[in-house]
Amino acid sequence: MEVNSASVKPDVLPTADAIANARSKLLMTIPDDGIGFEEAKRHLNEDIVPGLNGNSLTANYYGFVTGGATPAAAFADNLVTHWDQNVQVHLPEETIATDVEDRALRLLCDLIKLDPEQWSHRTFTTGATASNLVGLACGREYVIQEAARRRGQTVATSEVGLLEAVRAAGLDSIQILTTVAHSSLRKSASIVGLGRNSVQKVSREDAPHKFDLARLESLLATPCVASIVAISCAEVNTGLFATDRSDGIKIRELCDKYGAWIHVDAAFGLLARALPDTSEYSLLHEGVHCLEIADSITGDAHKLINVPYDCGIFLSRDVQLATRVFQNPSAAYLTPASPSPSTGPVIQSPLNIGIENSRRFRALPVYSTLVAYGAKGYQGMLERQIALSRAIAKHISEGNDYELLPQIVQANWNHVYIIVLFRAKDETINKNLVQRLNGTRKLYVSGTQWDGAPAARFAVSNWQVDVERDMTIVTLVLADALQ
Ligand SMILES: *Cc1c(COP(=O)(O)O)cnc(C)c1O
Repeated sequence: MEVNSASVKPDVLPTADAIANARSKLLMTIPDDGIGFEEAKRHLNEDIVPGLNGNSLTANYYGFVTGGATPAAAFADNLVTHWDQNVQVHLPEETIATDVEDRALRLLCDLIKLDPEQWSHRTFTTGATASNLVGLACGREYVIQEAARRRGQTVATSEVGLLEAVRAAGLDSIQILTTVAHSSLRKSASIVGLGRNSVQKVSREDAPHKFDLARLESLLATPCVASIVAISCAEVNTGLFATDRSDGIKIRELCDKYGAWIHVDAAFGLLARALPDTSEYSLLHEGVHCLEIADSITGDAHKLINVPYDCGIFLSRDVQLATRVFQNPSAAYLTPASPSPSTGPVIQSPLNIGIENSRRFRALPVYSTLVAYGAKGYQGMLERQIALSRAIAKHISEGNDYELLPQIVQANWNHVYIIVLFRAKDETINKNLVQRLNGTRKLYVSGTQWDGAPAARFAVSNWQVDVERDMTIVTLVLADALQ
């Protein structure tokens, strides 16, 4: 992918005045007659757009893990709007929209070196939060069914509901065991009726992002408790991975023994599987090995795949189980009029394997960007992002004014993926470090907390990254923020 510096806006954020001005121009009520399309266009371009931040357009927006939009993805997204397909029912004689979705998901599996045949439940969601929700819904169905089976019963939560199902399975509770999980895991736990409190940290004291395997086993072994193990791949504050290969294999053994489900949240970790097999990436490869032992996987295409919002990825190994959970029942008008053609893969109607009925044609931007740039394009893009992140980490470590976090990363920059967590050593500066950095409007970082004190965080996730150009800006801004 060529870097087009002409599209890099000089300022990442609008000024406070520009935001206030844009906000003041929003209409308060619906106009009786409408202002007309021409005037609406002017209103959007001249009044509203100046109040937006340029997070997809700029390479120097390092907030959250925002991603960007590649030209091929942005082009396809406009087609999506134009053709306005509703990708919910597989209608092979009317449209190839579901074929495109199926193909886009298979190409994605290729990119991240998973065999699509082993991941029979593949779908696009609105984002990683929705994918985590789907993962917990599948996990819940499985672990209760498995607990029931082990006492000679059959039960389907999807039919009888959680209360009746846990009673039939002889369960007192369901726990979600994790380390440093993304906040959306707790939100999803609330939605699927397990509750936020069901999420329990099973962290090692010396490395909170990793599992304490002995404690994990003792929790999994608790009588009358079913478990979902949620692996953070990678963790959002530090970019560190919860497991390596040997942890993953051990966790799989434990989960098979105790009938637990493994869900991996790889919202942005996913793409590390596309990296070449070289020593500088060996820690990252270890970190994403857990995808091979997972029952279900969350990914985000609007993050490192750099398609426009909103597009998440979900994979699980059991499409039958998914269909039990998500089947949209008794809607004859939503059943394909003709069965699938006898040749080619079986394509599920998306409405029966995911949350939504009507759905945007999210697959087209994914398909477009994957075929436009290919495996090498994506590999190169991620390598540039990692190179920039590691250059920032190195710069921070080598100077006297900032501290790279956490300790484990200080010792070895090869732990750095696309996130760099740090703070200013001077406490007064550190208190408003994020405002100091973002106040330059040359870049944007997000703030967080680490060990009870404020910290700042670069998340590098835009296709336009150019290590040399961007390091010039980063080093200037890091120096300016100390003044
Ligand atoms: C971003 C992120 C999420 C939430 O993703 P959305 O696409 O914003 O819903 C979940 N988990 C991880 C690890 C993330 O980085």
